[in-house]
Amino acid sequence: RPSAEKFEFQAEVSRLMDIIINSLYSNKDIFLRELISNASDALDKIRFLSLTDKDVLGDPDSAKLDIQIKLDKENNILSIRDRGIGMTKEDLIKNLGTIAKSGTSAFVEKMQTSGDLNLIGQFGVGFYSVYLVADYVEVISKHNDDKQYVWESKADGAFAISEDEWNQPLGRGTEIRLHLRDEAQEYLDQSKLKDLVKKYSEFINFPISLWASKEVDVEVPADEDESSDEDDKSETSSSEEEAEDEDEKQPKTKTVRETTYEWELLNDVKAIWLRSPKDVTDEEYTKFYHSLAKDFSEEKPLAWSHFTAEGDVEFKAVLFVPPKAPHDLYESYYNSKKSNFRLYVRRVFISDEFDELLPKYLSFLLGLVDSDTLPLNVSREMLQQHSSLKTIKKKLIRKALDMIRRIADEDPDESNDKEKKDVEESSNDKKGQYAKFWNEFGKSIKLGIIEDAANRNRLAKLLRFETTTSDGKLTSLDQYMSRMKSGQKDIFYITGSSKEQLEKSPFLERLKKKNYEVILFTDPVDEYLMQYLMDYEDKKFQNVSKEGLQIKDSKNKELKESFKELTKWWKSALASENVDSVKVSNRLADTPCVVVTSKYGWSANMERIMQSQTL
Ligand code: ADP
Ligand code: MG
Repeated sequence: RPSAEKFEFQAEVSRLMDIIINSLYSNKDIFLRELISNASDALDKIRFLSLTDKDVLGDPDSAKLDIQIKLDKENNILSIRDRGIGMTKEDLIKNLGTIAKSGTSAFVEKMQTSGDLNLIGQFGVGFYSVYLVADYVEVISKHNDDKQYVWESKADGAFAISEDEWNQPLGRGTEIRLHLRDEAQEYLDQSKLKDLVKKYSEFINFPISLWASKEVDVEVPADEDESSDEDDKSETSSSEEEAEDEDEKQPKTKTVRETTYEWELLNDVKAIWLRSPKDVTDEEYTKFYHSLAKDFSEEKPLAWSHFTAEGDVEFKAVLFVPPKAPHDLYESYYNSKKSNFRLYVRRVFISDEFDELLPKYLSFLLGLVDSDTLPLNVSREMLQQHSSLKTIKKKLIRKALDMIRRIADEDPDESNDKEKKDVEESSNDKKGQYAKFWNEFGKSIKLGIIEDAANRNRLAKLLRFETTTSDGKLTSLDQYMSRMKSGQKDIFYITGSSKEQLEKSPFLERLKKKNYEVILFTDPVDEYLMQYLMDYEDKKFQNVSKEGLQIKDSKNKELKESFKELTKWWKSALASENVDSVKVSNRLADTPCVVVTSKYGWSANMERIMQSQTL
C-alpha cells in the first residue's frame, strides 16, 4: 500500500523473528495460546478502565467483552478478534516491533541453546509466535483515543502501518489476521481449532466463540419428480419407522443438508478459584499453574495452596510454588514491576503490579487474590493504599510459609526418624522435593529472614545448610539443635567462600576433634543473613571465627593462667592498633595461632565480600 509508513524492527526483535520463522519446532500450536492470552489481557485492561468510566465501553456491540475466531478456508486466513482496549498507532509501533522487551535478548539466547519455543510467553514476546504458522500477518486495531490502523509484516525485517480505509470498523479492539503458510493449513480445520481453543482457553475469563459451520437437515417442499426421495430420507435420518405413517398425511417434503454458520461458545468462564478446593483435581491445579506461569512444560508446581479468608477482609487466593525459578528472579529483585501475582476484585482483574500484596522475597510465588472487600470503582493508586491490603498481605505470607513448610513435612528425605522414612519411601513422590525447593528458592528464604522481622522465626525454620558433620546433606536448625552436645550453649557456624576452604579452617580444628557440629555458610548472602539472625528458639548463634566461642574445657583456666605473661608480651609486641586482645585459644588443635575477629567486627569473609563489591 503506497500510503503506508514503513518501519524497521528493532535488531533483537528482528533476530527473534528470524529464529521463529525458520524454526523447525514441532509444537506450532502455541501461537494460538499467545494470541488468546493477549486478547484476554486487552479485555482485562478495558474492563478495568470501565470500572471508573462506563463510557469507555461505547456502543452495546463493543461493550460485549469477548473473543471471536474465524476461519476463512478460501483465503487461508485465521483471524482472532477481541473487543479489548485496542492499540493506538503509537502502541502498534512500540509494542509490535520497535521496542524490544527486556526478555527479548534473553529469549534469543535461550533459543540458540535449547530451542524450546514453548517458553516464549514467559519472556514477553509471545506475539511473534504467529510467524510459526503465518508468513504474512495483519493487525487491525482501534483504540478509543485514535483512528483504526493496520499493522502488517511479512517478517522480513520491516513492518508497515497505514490508516485503515478498507476494513470494517472494529468499534474498539484488535483483529489479528494470519495468512497461513502452506504447511499450516491444518489450522483451518474447524474441529482441530475447537480442540486447541478448548485446551488453551481453559482459564480465560472471557467468552471465546468460533464462527462455526454446522451441517443441518432442513425440510423443504419435495419436487414432484423425485422418486428416490423416500430412500434418501430413511438413510439420512435414522429416524423411527412410525414417522412414515404420519408423513402420508402431510404435504410432501424432503430433507436436505445445508451448511449454516453460527457463533459457537467454546469455553466455560467459571473461575477455578471460586470453586471449592475439594472439587478441583490436582491435574486442574497443575494446568492452572501452567496458564498463570505461561509455562507449558510438563513440570508440576512444587506446591499450592487454595483457600478462602473470612472475617473483616474476605478473599479467595491460590498460591503456587513453581518447580523452577524464573530466569531473572534475582536479577530483577530490586527493580522488577511486573509479577506473576494477580489481584482481582470481585472477579475483575485489577493488576499484576501490586507490590503491596506480597513482600519482595516471596515474589517467586505465582497466584492470585480475589477480594470482595476491596472497592471496585476506585483508581489503582487509591486501591494501593486501602487498609485491607495489609491484612491480605499478612495472611498471604502466613499461608505461603505454611505451604513451603508442608513441602518439607511431606518430604521423606527431610525426616530425622529412620523408621518413618522407610515406611514412606515406598510410595512417595514427594521425596527430594524440599531439596529441590531449596536449590531454586533458598536465597529468597534468606532474603526473607533479612527483610521480614515479623516472620523471622518461621523463615528460620525453613533454612537449610550443610554442616561439618552432615556429610554433604542439607540439614535444618531443628535437626542441628536436636544433635547439640550437652553443655553446648550456642549454635556454631562459620562463613567462607567454599566448603573446601572452610574444611581446612584452623578455626574448626578443636571443634571437630571434640565432635561439635558447625554450620558451614558459603553463600555471600549468608554474611548478611547472620547479621539479622541473632538467635533461634532459645539459642544464640556464634561465629566460630569470632570472639566469644565457648566450649566446655576444664584445662582452659589453667592454661590461661600459665600463659598470662606471654599473652601480655604478644599484645604489646603487636601494638594495640593491630589487635584488640591476645588470648589463649580454645579452638585450635594443630595450628599454633589464629587471628579472630571481635564480636561486633566484620568477619574475614565479610571483608572479602565487601572488597569484591567495591572493586
Ligand atoms: P506480552 O503479552 O507478554 O506483553 P506479547 O508479545 O504477547 O507480549 O505482546 C506484546 C504487546 O503487544 C502486549 O504487551 C500488548 O501491549 C500488545 N498487544 C498484543 N496483542 C494485543 C491485543 N490483542 N490487544 C491489545 N494489545 C495487544
Ligand atoms: Mg502475550
